[in-house]
Amino acid sequence: MNENAAQKIRLLMELRRMGITDTAVLSAIERVPREAFVPPTFRDRAYENIALPISSGQTISQPYIVAYMTQMLHPDPRAKVLEIGTGSGYQAAILSKLFRRVYSIERYRSLHLKALEIFEKLKISNITSKLGDGYKGWVEQAPFSHIIVTAAAEDVPAPLVDQLGDNGTMIIPVGPDQGDQTILRITKDHHGMIAEEELIPVRFVPLVQGLAVET
Ligand code: SAH
Repeated sequence: MNENAAQKIRLLMELRRMGITDTAVLSAIERVPREAFVPPTFRDRAYENIALPISSGQTISQPYIVAYMTQMLHPDPRAKVLEIGTGSGYQAAILSKLFRRVYSIERYRSLHLKALEIFEKLKISNITSKLGDGYKGWVEQAPFSHIIVTAAAEDVPAPLVDQLGDNGTMIIPVGPDQGDQTILRITKDHHGMIAEEELIPVRFVPLVQGLAVET
């Protein structure tokens, strides 16, 4: 067994200990090669339970946080899901194993293109991703029964709440950049009534409005 495979098993055990009990989520973590999404210099650390830097000053989230947010989203293989913040593409790849179709938005062209390349290489064909401002959501594809935001918003973006369908769930970190942030679960009932629940404290890169200016 190579070093990565042994580390992957250790990581899966650790996630279980930390409360990730959804076997479909654990199986997605097992099947998606995280090493394909991290920069070459960090490949040997791909299965450590830590966030790692990707380009443009962004990060690929800690595996526990990816697993936790995914579990809290209650994946449904018949549903489509909207992700804000494609970044490396890892979270989208995990979602691709658990939903019928994934829509993912990234504001950095370079990250968007790199993620597309990896999805193709791994032959993942049920992710539709675009360059855009995720704050605005994806109107043409709304409503979504499931929305996951992987950057910290100062406030919950109103367009995303609008695009959440009835009986829908949104998982979103909220709080100031570099400050105390909390993952919220926002649900809409079948009358369109909104409820909000605080889950766990986290540290995410900020959700920034508008496209990124790249040099
Ligand atoms: N889900 C990613 C996490 C990347 S970090 C992964 O698995 O690797 C968060 C990402 O959100 C960054 O790439 C950042 O550029 C992006 N982001 C921040 N604000 C955004 C916005 N308004 N629209 C789209 N993407 C945004």
